[in-house]
Amino acid sequence: MKALIVANWKMNPLKLKDAKALALSTKKAVSRTKGIDVIVAAPAVFVRDISTRTPKSRVFYALQNIHSESAGSYTGEISALQAKDAGATHVLIGHAERRALGETNEDTQKKVSAALAAQLIPILCVGESTRESDADYYAVVKEQLRGGLQDISEKKIGKVLIAYEPVWAIGGSIAMQPRDMHEMSIFIHKTLVERFGDVGHSLKVLYGGSVDGKNAVDMLKNGDVKGLLVGRVSVDADAFTSLIQTIDQA
Ligand code: PEP
Repeated sequence: MKALIVANWKMNPLKLKDAKALALSTKKAVSRTKGIDVIVAAPAVFVRDISTRTPKSRVFYALQNIHSESAGSYTGEISALQAKDAGATHVLIGHAERRALGETNEDTQKKVSAALAAQLIPILCVGESTRESDADYYAVVKEQLRGGLQDISEKKIGKVLIAYEPVWAIGGSIAMQPRDMHEMSIFIHKTLVERFGDVGHSLKVLYGGSVDGKNAVDMLKNGDVKGLLVGRVSVDADAFTSLIQTIDQA
């Protein structure tokens, strides 16, 4: 089956030679499939070295974060223009692990705009920390979507990818149930349509949180998502290759 898979390497691996080996095995795995696209969100220091690609390659590269300004006195930061120059085509924005470090909806809003201005595709990550029975999590997701996309025009919104990642499912052992994701996907699209009109229906929503070879296909078939964001499994070359094969053959 077709799918868009984001491989979030987080702060791994430790050495460039290992990053190159992992990128190579990822490319090989994708080249054997019919309709799987992979975006490798690697640590910024590795992106220039691993991002050489032919126009037909279905592996793309992303940074895991950018700064909202394009240049200047921002020690330790990387701009969208620099990310693009290093070979990135996409960028993760508002990942839960960055929000945990203090990133706000206002920050994500500026970063989404900066990414689009530099012609990078933003992958806006949203998701509640906990799930209480009073369904407050819908309000959290709505605010993250409305905040992060506040400045975006109807003309540009079609370029944005949304990754729904409930924080309680990231890095754990239990993924969300596809039927719950299906409900969330309807809610996300409804929120986008309220803000942007019909184009909101067509935005791609991805799921992330403890995806592995056992739950990926069920989520893609029944979760109303166009792809998956994969953390831990994406830095294990054998496990990721097998995940890609399993999805391709489903
Ligand atoms: C993530 O980092 O966004 C993620 C989904 O991680 P994991 O697959 O390890 O839960």
